[in-house]
Amino acid sequence: MLKALKTILEIQELDMQMIQLMRLKKERLSDQDNINSVKGDLNEKVRLKEEEILEMKKNIRLMEGDVSEVAAKLKKLETQQNAIKKVEEFNALSQEMSQTDRERAAKEQKLSDLIDKLSVEEEALKMIRQSLDTTVEGSKVLENEIHESVGRINDEGRALKEKRDDLVHVADPEVFRIYERLLRNKKDRVVVPIENRCCSGCHIMLTAQDENLVRKGERLVFCEHCSRIHYWQESQAALEGTPVAPKTRRRRTSTVG
Ligand SMILES: [Zn+2]
Repeated sequence: MLKALKTILEIQELDMQMIQLMRLKKERLSDQDNINSVKGDLNEKVRLKEEEILEMKKNIRLMEGDVSEVAAKLKKLETQQNAIKKVEEFNALSQEMSQTDRERAAKEQKLSDLIDKLSVEEEALKMIRQSLDTTVEGSKVLENEIHESVGRINDEGRALKEKRDDLVHVADPEVFRIYERLLRNKKDRVVVPIENRCCSGCHIMLTAQDENLVRKGERLVFCEHCSRIHYWQESQAALEGTPVAPKTRRRRTSTVG
């Protein structure tokens, strides 16, 4: 039984490294997602501003057409007026002309406002484009670093998996099946030593009977509180190539974090 657990413990150490590695990869990929989303937002802003500017230019062209129409009308009235002899008709035309001239002035004002607004919006677009360029340029180093880091993680992951596959090949299939099911649930160490008559997984006190059963090491013993598999530290320490005791490692991690 202990021999079966020894291989499982080795697999477990590789799995813990793999979990750590995948956590790291997730972090790095989420950094990349953040960069992408900042760039995406800026691209979208550029797109919207460009659309807005295009629409404004269209309106300006329409407005220019309007202005020249009114100007042409005014010119026509002027020509008409020159040919008129009767004072009443002349005055009536004068009135129409001054009204048309006001209309022309109003339209020109509107056009001029629109052109001013266009130049403001074009300036705004320039700023957004600059900000996008800065972001793209500035994130290059970080993106390369993320890319390389993910590459290294993938390499390490592959190496871990190869080692694991070799171990799985020689592991007791039944014990391995149980181990994998437990690991899927807990995503943490599931084969744990008894320490001071406590399960080092859930830290709940065990009975002397439980401890004896584990110490004998004749069969798999599960924690009745957390379902983890127990092993006896002394016998495990006597084995060759034993991995670092889980508790020590956990402590080290908690002081760093
Ligand atoms: Zn437990």
